[in-house]
Amino acid sequence: MKLNKDLSKIKEENEFFTLSEKVKEFKEKNPHCEIVSLGIGDVSKPIIKPITEAMHNAVDDLSSMETFKGYGASTGYNFLKQKILENDYKNMDFSFDEIYISNGTKIDVCSILELFDIDSSICIPTPIYPIYKNGVHCLSRNINYLLICEKDNFVPQVPKEKYDIVYLCSPNNPTGIAYSYENLKKWVDYAIENHAIILYDNAYSAFINTTNIPKSIYEIECANKVAIEFRSFSKNISFSGVRCSYYVIPNKICDNINNIWKKRTINRFNGADYIAQKGAEASYSKEAQIEIKENIADYLNNTKKLKKAFKKLGFTVYGGEDSPFLWVKIKEHINSWDLFNLYLKKLNIIIIPGIIFGIEGDSFFRISGLGSREDIEKAIERLEKYYN
Ligand SMILES: *Cc1c(COP(=O)(O)O)cnc(C)c1O
Repeated sequence: MKLNKDLSKIKEENEFFTLSEKVKEFKEKNPHCEIVSLGIGDVSKPIIKPITEAMHNAVDDLSSMETFKGYGASTGYNFLKQKILENDYKNMDFSFDEIYISNGTKIDVCSILELFDIDSSICIPTPIYPIYKNGVHCLSRNINYLLICEKDNFVPQVPKEKYDIVYLCSPNNPTGIAYSYENLKKWVDYAIENHAIILYDNAYSAFINTTNIPKSIYEIECANKVAIEFRSFSKNISFSGVRCSYYVIPNKICDNINNIWKKRTINRFNGADYIAQKGAEASYSKEAQIEIKENIADYLNNTKKLKKAFKKLGFTVYGGEDSPFLWVKIKEHINSWDLFNLYLKKLNIIIIPGIIFGIEGDSFFRISGLGSREDIEKAIERLEKYYN
């Protein structure tokens, strides 16, 4: 028996593990310390009532002969696809068979590679959310990294090299930067010219509120010929524990792409949870949308407050306008793990050292507004006290 040797390339999971071990050790030694975690990439608000009510009803459906659901369609129920088409892709001419409902963008952005030849050249701009590279490693594909530079405001620039597949994530995790029409147009043009496919992770679309930032890559002309867009219900409706996501494979990408992928999906996946899909459907109601927008506004307010505080303390800060994440440049002449240790010990604040997102991230850290308002205020108070 031989193991997949590419699995040994996965380092970053260990780094998140190292981080939680360090926090655990510190907590054990300092049990009375009140630690504020601004490292979190998870939401802190509970699921709103209109959604949990719909999920309760879905559970009841399962206990009655007339409404019981067994295996559903592998690509998802039309009741949810209908809402997605009407709301997220209004005025775009996608059909039911171009939408795939799934149980998490994390798995989706990697398993989509089964669509492409094993020798396809894959480009991943970095610093980046580590799951792309780790997921790609699991599938034994090679990665070409494209450095995202501070001088470009952390917007990835189209390379001279020709790649078959490019991962883009906007609003970006970890930098918190959202890409504009102009930025994305260049990538769409690049993809058309090079016969490349863009895998567009739009998990934070609900956080976009600046007018020159497209909510979907398909707002760029011809993107439906080159891009597969991924969206998740984890961040906008707190479904990180429930699991529901979707992606779009436009028929215009090439002949037959949907038939190929549908065949693959029917054989590899039995569909997302009915209860989760009913909850996701309910999130599109008018009343739910009002509450969801309020929740997102709270997270963005947290992020803005943090950004303002860091700026006032003389830090260079990126992101946070259309994203819950800030990418902060370290002022001290220390690396990002040293800064993590410093903040943990002196300020009792948890941040994520930038190096976890790639070696280029070592002079930065990621901090998030997804926590509670109280925690954000506490953190700001401690930062001000420490730096003033
Ligand atoms: C949180 C997050 C996701 C969501 O993944 P799920 O599996 O749907 O929970 C996807 N991409 C990025 C960049 C994220 O930060």
